[in-house]
Amino acid sequence: MAHEVKNKHLGSLDEWEDDILQRYPEKESFRDYENTERDSVKEFYRLNHENQTLAFAQAKRAEFESLSRREMGIWEACEYLNELVDDSDPDTDLSQVQHLLQTSEAIRADGHPRWFILTGLLHDLGKILCLWDEPQWGVVGDTYPLGCQFSDRIVYPEFFAKNPDASDPKLNTENGIYQPGCGLNEVTMSWGHDEYMYLVAKDYMPEESLYMIRFHSCYPIHREGAYQHLMNDHDREMFEWVKKFNPYDLYSKTDKPPNVVELKPYYLELIDEFFPEKIKW
Ligand code: FE
Ligand code: FE
Repeated sequence: MAHEVKNKHLGSLDEWEDDILQRYPEKESFRDYENTERDSVKEFYRLNHENQTLAFAQAKRAEFESLSRREMGIWEACEYLNELVDDSDPDTDLSQVQHLLQTSEAIRADGHPRWFILTGLLHDLGKILCLWDEPQWGVVGDTYPLGCQFSDRIVYPEFFAKNPDASDPKLNTENGIYQPGCGLNEVTMSWGHDEYMYLVAKDYMPEESLYMIRFHSCYPIHREGAYQHLMNDHDREMFEWVKKFNPYDLYSKTDKPPNVVELKPYYLELIDEFFPEKIKW
């Protein structure tokens, strides 16, 4: 059964990812977007930047960290996520699972370790938040630290003017509520599918994988190099993995969509190496 995404401001979940591709094209050439598409991405970021406050992210984390919504296995979650159908162009868009498999298959083709391949499969499963009627601005989009000044290296920084945290003197200084160099583990990130999936996977995957899952949408850090003042040396070391992961997420789209039925046995075995039959979500 298809589940229609509630938040209509972003026509399609993929539009956000297409926008990243336009911002960070692999080669010189990138296609120019229709104005309407750009407008909906802009509207999406307006909502995201105005509403992602420290209080919001803390409340969402508190709401979801008990992982008491349901119990299901990883492959089951892939199939569940596939109920999420984009309302634009269903013929050309890949299903959610196909994006996951393209990412993991590209990692596998490059001969990376098994945990890395599995990370490709897992990284966007947190988008099931959309199926629980979380607004899209609280599920996808670039992520960034909260509780301190918003970096002007975040996409559309002007929209933070209407975020209440931007005028809170406790939260709008360079370090805000944090000690310099405190490390990202101390930092509350904007809430979305990255942070949620980190909570789900944190007892099962190696640390390198958890950094990839938790920070793969944090373009302000892994592409723009912002927020170094909050990071410690361990974060910087781990971000080498986040950077290594990113091209597989962005540039693994192939002409031939992966064959889900053929690949399923391989992935069931891989999942079984790291996860019990069912985990908490
Ligand atoms: Fe993602
Ligand atoms: Fe992705």
